[in-house]
Amino acid sequence: MSASQPAAPITPRIIPREEHGISRRFISPNALRVLYRLNEAGHQAYLVGGAVRDLLLGGRPKDFDVATDATPDEVRRLFRNCRLIGRRFRLAHVIFGPEIIEVATFRGNESAEHGEGERHIVDGMIVRDNVWGSIEDDALRRDFTANSLYYTVADFSVRDWTGGYEDVRHRVLRLIGDPATRYREDPVRMLRAVRLAAKLEFRIDDAAWAAIFDLAPLIAESAPARLFDELLKLFMGGHAFESMRWLEASGLFHELFPGTAHALQRDGGLQVPRLLELALEGTDARIAAGRPVTPAFLLAALLWPALEAALAEDACAHRDMHDPQLALTRAANRVVREQCQRIALPKRFTLTMMEIWQLQRRFEQTQRRKATRFLSHPRYRAAFDFLELRAHDEPQLRPLVDWWAALAAAPGSVAAEGPHIATDPLATVSRVEAGAADDVRAPKRKRRRRPRKTPGSGPMVATPTEV
Ligand code: ATP
Ligand code: MG
Repeated sequence: MSASQPAAPITPRIIPREEHGISRRFISPNALRVLYRLNEAGHQAYLVGGAVRDLLLGGRPKDFDVATDATPDEVRRLFRNCRLIGRRFRLAHVIFGPEIIEVATFRGNESAEHGEGERHIVDGMIVRDNVWGSIEDDALRRDFTANSLYYTVADFSVRDWTGGYEDVRHRVLRLIGDPATRYREDPVRMLRAVRLAAKLEFRIDDAAWAAIFDLAPLIAESAPARLFDELLKLFMGGHAFESMRWLEASGLFHELFPGTAHALQRDGGLQVPRLLELALEGTDARIAAGRPVTPAFLLAALLWPALEAALAEDACAHRDMHDPQLALTRAANRVVREQCQRIALPKRFTLTMMEIWQLQRRFEQTQRRKATRFLSHPRYRAAFDFLELRAHDEPQLRPLVDWWAALAAAPGSVAAEGPHIATDPLATVSRVEAGAADDVRAPKRKRRRRPRKTPGSGPMVATPTEV
């Protein structure tokens, strides 16, 4: 709901325990403790947001958020293990060892009667938001109806002010209020739409989807640090491949990675290299298997097309420059600098990413003794995995990949010297240059169809037994 629109008085739909089927068994005992304690102290308290949505879908929420009419100071007085945090929003964190239950006071909009606190709006965008309000206000200021369901331990019902219960049942993401207004208030909501659609296998409602095409460029006005947080959620949450398809189809990928998007632009769409697809799939597979992942590797793949384009550009501009190491460093620094204007990538990730790029040249050196030394380099594995991904787009690298794999498996089993194949990305520049005529065109955005939704994974769970 826009800040200027007063919330209409509405009554919630109340979905009783027998109907919604959410069991306390699947709710964190610490979250339940917080809900009961707030109720006992005479406050309203609800489980809200992604947790209720995920419980309805039969999933196990990864975190539990609580909304209450108690102010942050009142919450602090009730819980010794409580810390007040937040610049943008003031929130209470109730800390139980490794688990944090986030407790937020109901927030409203500017016109909410008896609203306290302050809200700051610049050109339609919310920059600070600390207006306390009623539960109705709180329900209406949330992003999607599916994220605006309230579960109470007072009678174990779910309260729904926005139609979210039916939308979860039909697996649709619908923005609360006018989509354009809501995206203008906070452009990150567009990224949340595609992320949640990818993660939950939901459809995005037509109005919410259409507005993204017009407003995607507003992403550039979001804080780069916030975009980095959102990037991690998009790509490190186990649904990187699906997220990429939604980002691409919505035009949002252009806004997050302008350099890469420009390099991959073909006939109004993006020609995503196998390298990137495989890096995304690999990240999802590792997360599914509980193995560690680093954003640096994925960033190396995400920005590789931009690096190739930058090298190609430099090769045209400085035909006399023959130091490949210098050329790579110069191009890589430029790619990182430009990318960081949009998304604040921490140095620890960009440095590792650049190292993965730089180490590609080391694979050219196939004298067995030298090569064996490289195997113990701390970044050898990441650099090799990257070379292996490259070989899917650059098949000439395949014999080299096989030779290094054999060396790593049994150093004595390979010939004293491996194949002579150029691995320097500059060697691929001629390939990129061939397509460079396309690259200099201004990117054209075309309305793309949204990714095909995989069939939903069944109806809402309605039978778990109550504790
Ligand atoms: P996930 O399962 O990925 O955590 P989530 O919906 O719980 O998804 P959070 O970032 O944890 O996402 O946010 C918790 C809740 O806060 C959301 O469900 C939504 O109700 C509200 N919210 C979060 N971000 C926004 C936003 N930008 N605008 C409006 N409401 C938001
Ligand atoms: Mg959440």
